[in-house]
Parts: sequence; C-alpha cells; structure tokens
Amino acid sequence: MNTLVNDIFSIETGQVTLLLPRKINGGRLSELLERIPYVSENVKSVSYSDQGHCAIINVESSEADQMDLLRSDLQELVEALLASKIAAQKTLKTRVRPSGLVSKKHVDDSMVYYNSADLKLIAGVDKLLVDIAIRHGASIREYGSIYSAEIMARNGYHKNFPQNVYGVTQISHNYALIKEIRESSSSTIPPGMFHSQGAFLQPCVCYHCYAEIQDSIQSNVLYTLKGRCFRHEIEWRLNNFRRNEFTMREIVFMGSPEYVESKRLTIMEDVWALFGALGLYGQIVTARDPFFHYDDMKTKGAVQLMADAKYELEFISEAGHSSSIASFNNCQDTLCAKFGITDFDSNVLHSGCVAFGIDRWRAALFEQYGGDCEVWPDLLNTSNNH
Ligand SMILES: [Zn+2]
Repeated sequence: MNTLVNDIFSIETGQVTLLLPRKINGGRLSELLERIPYVSENVKSVSYSDQGHCAIINVESSEADQMDLLRSDLQELVEALLASKIAAQKTLKTRVRPSGLVSKKHVDDSMVYYNSADLKLIAGVDKLLVDIAIRHGASIREYGSIYSAEIMARNGYHKNFPQNVYGVTQISHNYALIKEIRESSSSTIPPGMFHSQGAFLQPCVCYHCYAEIQDSIQSNVLYTLKGRCFRHEIEWRLNNFRRNEFTMREIVFMGSPEYVESKRLTIMEDVWALFGALGLYGQIVTARDPFFHYDDMKTKGAVQLMADAKYELEFISEAGHSSSIASFNNCQDTLCAKFGITDFDSNVLHSGCVAFGIDRWRAALFEQYGGDCEVWPDLLNTSNNH
C-alpha cells in the first residue's frame, strides 16, 4: 500500500520519522512542513532533517489506531502535494536589514495584555492604513463580529477551511431548559444543551461588504473596515504573530477587472512606501499557495485562482523569521459571483482586498523600536495626535 512515504516510529521518544519522496523538495517541502500540523491534533511539532530527507514529527499519542490514521492522512497529503503545481515564489520587492545593525532587545509581554504603548502603536499604524484607504476613495465601515449562516453559505469559507472556524452556539429561550441548567448541581453547561443557527465568529472581515451590497448592480466601489477576527489555530504554534483572536483591517474593492487589479497594485505601492517609512525590513513575495484568506491543510476543495492572485508583505525579524503582515488579493469574479454583484450589463464584478494583520504590525514595530514613543518614527506619533 504505502509506496510514497515510509515512516519509522520510536516509542521512547514519541517521534515519527517520515522518509520523504525525492520529489518533495523546494516549495513542495515547505508546503508539506507548513501543513503537517493541521493533519491531526496529535501532532505536537514538526521539523525537517536534510540528513536522510525526512520530516520529524512529535506525536502525543502513539496508539496503533492513531498511528494508522496519521499514516493515511500523511500519505494523502504527500499525494496531493506531488500532484499539485507549486510555482516558484517570486520576490517583488525587498528591503534588506543592513548587516551589522543590531537593535536593542525589547521584552514583549503582549501575549498576556496590551499596555498603553502597544495600544498607541496599534492606533498609530491603523490610522496610517486608514489614510491610505481614504486616499483611494474608501467608504468607512464597521460591522459586528459574527457572520450569519446566510453570509457563510455564500462565501463558503467554513467549507474550505473548517479547521479554522469557531462556531457560535446558544441556549434556547426555553423555560424548562433554563430551569434545568439553573437547578443542576454541575458547574458547567453540558455542550449538548447548546444549539447552533449556523453562525460563525468572523475569520476575516471583508465578506460583510459583499453581504451589504449582495444581489445588486454596482460600478466601482471601495471600502475600508476593521474588526476582531477569530481563527482556531494550532495551540503550540501560537505567538505574537499568530493568535487565535486578532484585529484585521481590510480595504475591499469591487469593479471592472482593470479597476480591481490597478487598486490592488497601487495600494500595494503605498503600503510598501509606508513599510519603508516606518523603518521596517522585509519583502513582498507571491504567496506559495494562491488561496484566499487561507491557513489550511490540504488543497482539496479550495478554489484555485490566477497565478499571482496573492502577494504577501513579509516582515523579516532580526533573527531572520518572516511573518506575513499584509496580503494583496485579487479574487477575480469568484466572490462577486457568490454574492450576486454585477455591473449594469449583468457582468459579474471582479473584486479584491488588501488585508492587514494589525497585531502583527504592532509586533514588528515593537521588535524594532520597543515601547518608548520617543524613539518611534515621527509618523506614528503624528498619526496619534489626530
Ligand atoms: Zn478580504
């Protein structure tokens, strides 16, 4: 059966050594290592060893049925990757940290709370991003944090990336049920007493804009909005840059194919200029995986878009770790088709969005400058005085 991958399991260390086919290299190898954690909650860490070309996977449970399941899921993942076309990553822009530039180390406590300096950084950078959106003619929006069942049915995010979503459940307004809960000696409410109406905590914010103008005729439109987003991330991968709950600002645009692509590229230029003006180092690259708002595992079921559908702005830390802090997406007509948005001649509009992980911008700025506003770039302080 198992011709593509072979594994060696060590009971003592709870470790699986996965010998990989030769063809898993370059972009495919990084994809594989990125996706293995999403295969099972049983996976506790993943690393690569070029000696023997293998992935080393630490597992929590080594029971036979768990191992069988892991084996078959990994096999499926490797097969999907071998069958996929992964284009070489293109670098569009780089701003290289000068060698020999060593910045002061700042202790970042922000996984527990944000303090006043953190909030100033967040407000400062957000104001600068709103300024860019307004220069591009944005209408300002703010919505709630929940997507209704109807909105989810239209965008399909939960079907493509079920591992990322948090559902919303509630207790029915039912006297007998309420009484039962109040009078029970248990300190918790049994999960079975909650029911779902198909709503989800938002994993990204832009679908609200599509829902607002669904089933209507439009010409070129552009919005900016900000919201709290929620994604069920892998516990051991959480850090300042990868959180379960985070703030996202988006600039969303819909219109003719030319309008959408030109907005995406000109906003990208503006954001790149801001990135430089804030003294940050990094690059803009094509996303390896051209999917929309993803962080997923297998390619199955996701909609493949044009080759350069997604560009990412990566902040590169002093230690060399890169983190995507903004993405520039062209969704072509996929989302407007789902939400029934057309032009006067009944052509489905194109759309795109630029998404900013505000917490990640804060983390990048904090790493660079720390919490003392005296040493921040003037831009951040002036934007705070508005
Ligand atoms: Zn979006």
